[in-house]
Amino acid sequence: MHLDAPGRLFCVATPIGNLGDITLRALETLRSVHTIACEDTRTTGRLLALLEIPRPRLVSYHDHNESRRVGQIVALLEQGNDVALVSDAGTPTISDPGYRVVSRCAEEGIEVIPIPGPCAAIAALCASGLPTDRFLFLGFPAKKGAKLQRFMAQALEPQRTAVVYLPMRRLQGFLEDVMGRAPETQVVVSRELTKAHEQLVRGTVGDVLTGIAEIPQKGECTLLLYNPES
Ligand code: SAM
Repeated sequence: MHLDAPGRLFCVATPIGNLGDITLRALETLRSVHTIACEDTRTTGRLLALLEIPRPRLVSYHDHNESRRVGQIVALLEQGNDVALVSDAGTPTISDPGYRVVSRCAEEGIEVIPIPGPCAAIAALCASGLPTDRFLFLGFPAKKGAKLQRFMAQALEPQRTAVVYLPMRRLQGFLEDVMGRAPETQVVVSRELTKAHEQLVRGTVGDVLTGIAEIPQKGECTLLLYNPES
């Protein structure tokens, strides 16, 4: 179908654990679009089934096929079809694929509409008790070398909260590194947010290093750091 007006790209946030966090606008949008571009069609297919949303066309969009898919998604939009962009969980493009298609739509004058909702970084920040007037989102740390050194220096810049997405298996080593550099750092480990085993461990980095010995070394973790030193 060719319409004069191009379609719209909706960036739709989906739950990070608790299905109840889906928003009314997300439901309405996922029900109405022609196509959903998603990281993993099986994961999104399961979500749609749980939400009892009839399955529209799903196209996979991930780090390995992004450049090819951008053109196909933009073509669908130019033909007048609305498309939703989702990731496996949370807000698309936030440490997740999607930036390139959004950027291309912006260049082409195609309307991009955010449908905000769950995001692990924001959920962790708001429950942390750390200052949130200024924060730095850093996403996943580099594994080693100069990039990791730069990452640590940024994470420990004084007087603003840093947000790090960290696999649980790296938590202890990462905190030991923080302890060696800035032992006054306040830390919040936010584990399994919105899920049955949600857990927040707060304290100085030394307290938290002791505390995490008690918690399972699995699940999703968002780490917040606040170095009070000026
Ligand atoms: N775009 C997503 C968002 O808006 O939250 C983040 C995607 S990123 C690939 C996945 C990382 O987010 C995980 O490795 C973890 O650090 C964090 N994360 C996702 N779900 C979480 C949860 N329920 N509790 C704590 N952290 C979570």
